[in-house]
Amino acid sequence: MMEQKICDDIGLIKKLKLPGVHVCEECIKTGGKWVHLRTCQTCGVTLCCDYSPNQHMTQHYLQSHHKVIISAEQGERWLWCYKHEIIVEY
Ligand SMILES: [Zn+2]
Ligand SMILES: [Zn+2]
Ligand SMILES: [Zn+2]
Repeated sequence: MMEQKICDDIGLIKKLKLPGVHVCEECIKTGGKWVHLRTCQTCGVTLCCDYSPNQHMTQHYLQSHHKVIISAEQGERWLWCYKHEIIVEY
């Protein structure tokens, strides 16, 4: 029997935090480059994805335990929960 993963974190989000800036807020401090951007749904920070050399959003999750992010890329409409490794389109 397949065990189904259940995430109650994404369901708790009532209003999405949209990216306020379209840059990685950590990469711009150091002149780093990023591939895609993600926005944290707990604190609203916009940071770079795992394809980017510095993987700032994953580092942010490991340090802050802010679990849910959205894609900050135009045309991408999904949420991701790091803890449960679940993606939900909206
Ligand atoms: Zn979750
Ligand atoms: Zn970055
Ligand atoms: Zn955060």
